[in-house]
Amino acid sequence: MTYGLVSDIHANLTALEAVLDRLRGVDRFVCPGDVVGYGPDPAECLSRVRSLDCVTVLGNHDAAVCGMMNPSWFNPDAREAISWTHQALGEADLHALSILPLTHEANQFVVVHGSLAGPEEFPYILSPGEARRCFEEMGDHGVCFVGHSHVSEIYVQQPGVFGVDQIGMPSGGKLDLRPGLRYIVNCGSVGQPRDGNPDASCAVFDSEAMAVEIIRVPYDFPAVQDRMRRAGLPQFLIDRLEFGA
Ligand code: ZN
Repeated sequence: MTYGLVSDIHANLTALEAVLDRLRGVDRFVCPGDVVGYGPDPAECLSRVRSLDCVTVLGNHDAAVCGMMNPSWFNPDAREAISWTHQALGEADLHALSILPLTHEANQFVVVHGSLAGPEEFPYILSPGEARRCFEEMGDHGVCFVGHSHVSEIYVQQPGVFGVDQIGMPSGGKLDLRPGLRYIVNCGSVGQPRDGNPDASCAVFDSEAMAVEIIRVPYDFPAVQDRMRRAGLPQFLIDRLEFGA
């Protein structure tokens, strides 16, 4: 079975379509959260994700947009985008966001937006120490898929070893998953990468070969910036698409 991982789409339909084109042929899709927020196409992205029958968990922006989380947790630009997105969505879409689960458990993996160490508080995993707290909550699962930080990277834990390895993958790459080791895979962000590479990020998990490939996909970000300008979204959010930061 092959799974296409698409996280932190953030209402960027152009990036999403580019990624889906690249992932054509995978058996199933998984989204570790934040379908909306920041970008100009929230309704279109929700509809496209629904068409994929995609396993989706709740992201912090999804939660804020549908009124489940106080926007005061966010910086002013994010808050403005959250309010714009709330206005742009209809009741049915807001309801669909409100019923997304915080975690999803399958046979071979578990999915959460931030970390299993308090999923409802959306903590970030940006260091081996933060990854270790998530590993502690993984139970029997060997693989955890996360998003949230918009950074493509993989954390590896060996049994009986305190330290956790952090493997940055800003240019993409493939990793074979070894039996007995445990992994946290951040597939990066489709719609607003922040690891210095402006290309959309996604991943493929092959559950038979036990391998993960992070894939970076160029897309027409100036077209997205134009739509964001016309929508009146904050300038900083428009500029950062160009730098992937
Ligand atoms: Zn996000």
